[in-house]
Amino acid sequence: MSTIKENLLKVMDQIEKAAQRAGRNPKEIKLVAVSKTVGVDRIKEAIEAGVNILGENYVQEAQKKIEEIGHKVAWHFIGHLQSNKAKVAVRLFDVIHSIDSLPLAQELNRRAEREGRRVKVMIEVNLSGETTKFGVEEGKALSLAKDMMLLNHLSLEGLMTMPPYFDSPEMSRPYFIHLRELKKRIEKEGILIKELSMGMSNDFEVAIEEGATYIRVGTAIFGPRK
Ligand SMILES: *Cc1c(COP(=O)(O)O)cnc(C)c1O
Repeated sequence: MSTIKENLLKVMDQIEKAAQRAGRNPKEIKLVAVSKTVGVDRIKEAIEAGVNILGENYVQEAQKKIEEIGHKVAWHFIGHLQSNKAKVAVRLFDVIHSIDSLPLAQELNRRAEREGRRVKVMIEVNLSGETTKFGVEEGKALSLAKDMMLLNHLSLEGLMTMPPYFDSPEMSRPYFIHLRELKKRIEKEGILIKELSMGMSNDFEVAIEEGATYIRVGTAIFGPRK
């Protein structure tokens, strides 16, 4: 068995156990295999092993891979998106996890309209206040969500967050709880938020316990990045 397949089986087992601990159906949790810096051959190996959603951080890097591999799998964009890449992003990606401003949302909406598409997106929330992180401040998430309701070619699917890196996954838990509560507050205003995109290699089990519906896992599947 290939290492990627072994890694994937291990992650899937961890997903199932974390879901059981939380009394959740493991099928509610969708695994985004994060393939930034990973070459096409190893991505194909992951697809053969059962991966059906790939997550990429850079538009140009993803474009080459998507041309070669195609759309038999879903491609999600999880990195910071610049408005000047919106046009390509709308063509390439099934879901964009990282909307962090109204101008970006508006540009994607314009591009999606021209393509005759409705693009699934999520709002990235910066809960730690770290200036090195992208994402909207928590206090601005609701008003961004409201403004996005007026953009008919975007479908707001969920919220995404990335806590600071901690060695102990338990340290991420308050951030995951926080995102879940923010989702509730937005829903109280009549805006349905289906998805919570949270949890990476080191803390996805905790994220699942706190309600993640998408986890974004790179290293635990593909090994350390160079
Ligand atoms: C790279 C990346 C991941 C995956 O990180 P790992 O620790 O390798 O699992 C998840 N989400 C985002 C936004 C990333 O940039």
